[in-house]
Amino acid sequence: MVYTFEPIGFIRSPYKEKFGIPRQPGLIAEARGELVFAAPYNRPEAVIGLEGYSHVWLQFVFHQALRDEWQPMVRPPRLGGNKRVGVFASRSPFRPNPIGLSVVKLEQVRAVDGEVVLELSGIDLLDGTPVLDVKPYVGYVDSIPEARSGFAPEAPAVRFQVLFSALAKAQLLSRCEPDQLRRFITRLLEVDPRPAYSGDSQPGRIYGIRLYDFDLRWRINGDRIEVLELASPGVD
Ligand code: SAM
Repeated sequence: MVYTFEPIGFIRSPYKEKFGIPRQPGLIAEARGELVFAAPYNRPEAVIGLEGYSHVWLQFVFHQALRDEWQPMVRPPRLGGNKRVGVFASRSPFRPNPIGLSVVKLEQVRAVDGEVVLELSGIDLLDGTPVLDVKPYVGYVDSIPEARSGFAPEAPAVRFQVLFSALAKAQLLSRCEPDQLRRFITRLLEVDPRPAYSGDSQPGRIYGIRLYDFDLRWRINGDRIEVLELASPGVD
């Protein structure tokens, strides 16, 4: 049996590539994005009442993780990328049906001039992610404080102190909401965004992540990360 679903909307996100995105929602409150409803689902009536909820569940397609075949076991980055667990014991994007589930904060519901938008924060979604459904988060049902959480019992630990070069500080100041952006970048880097713990095998290496409209460049020095610059793409 095959079921066909159509996205009800798409995500606008600061994350322009998979590398560096937190592995779960809620870890970086400063990660703001939007769900923009697409026609014919952009009906203001369809979101009436949603403003009464602080959080929503998003079901979405891992559209940049589509594969023809699936594997019954995966290697979660959380386990260092070298230990395998069953795909259904993981939150891996690589699954038989590449559907993701994230609970995110609902900052505002906007329905003006034919545009219906949910302003969100704490997202772990790539820009352009197709969203299949939205449901309100209901605390007494969806929160289970005594739940066991397998190989991911708590949020990833902070590993690095994040410092900004003079150039990066000056570039931050030329952007809107520099303090918010600085906190966002700090939270993103301090838990080590690299795919799996890779040690300090390449000291001095410059890493980059595409965020918003810039390339964030940084390097690791012991237990510190230095943000080198917020570079304009194509400019070295
Ligand atoms: N919270 C969701 C879940 O549990 O289903 C996603 C968990 S998955 C481990 C999170 C990762 O998916 C992010 O770190 C990012 O690299 C990746 N990701 C986010 N949006 C994606 C998309 N549209 N296509 C492919 N990968 C995506």
